[in-house]
Amino acid sequence: MTRYEPECIFCKIAAGHIPARLIYKNDHVAAFHDLNPVAPVHALIIPLEHIRSLSDLTEDDAGIAAEILLAARVVAEKTGVLESGYRVVFNNGDDALQSVGHIHAHVIGGKTMGWPPF
Ligand code: 5GP
Ligand code: ZN
Repeated sequence: MTRYEPECIFCKIAAGHIPARLIYKNDHVAAFHDLNPVAPVHALIIPLEHIRSLSDLTEDDAGIAAEILLAARVVAEKTGVLESGYRVVFNNGDDALQSVGHIHAHVIGGKTMGWPPF
């Protein structure tokens, strides 16, 4: 059964109840542009069903975890950063400043980045 949290902003985007600038969608994940981009390319990839964070993934979610990573490649291609390079980031929990409790991968690119990221 699909998990849906009525108060979750990303569940609403996944269901099409609030708009987003969609890049890619299949039966398992959706990718869209971040509302407040930190780089020329800043996309988010979410599973269509509600999972709070990486810390909540179980063996049963192995398929969805793979779907998210495979979508990162598609997003990189569609946004033009496949060759130039990009970063895929999951913020998990308070110290990482996760602000939306629905697992998401940031795909960031279009500029040369620094490391470490803090
Ligand atoms: P986090 O801080 O949880 O890792 O990342 C959440 C991201 O979601 C932030 O980069 C924020 O700009 C983005 N975001 C929050 N609400 C919305 C929204 O309604 N639409 C879109 N497109 N992005 C959002
Ligand atoms: Zn959700």
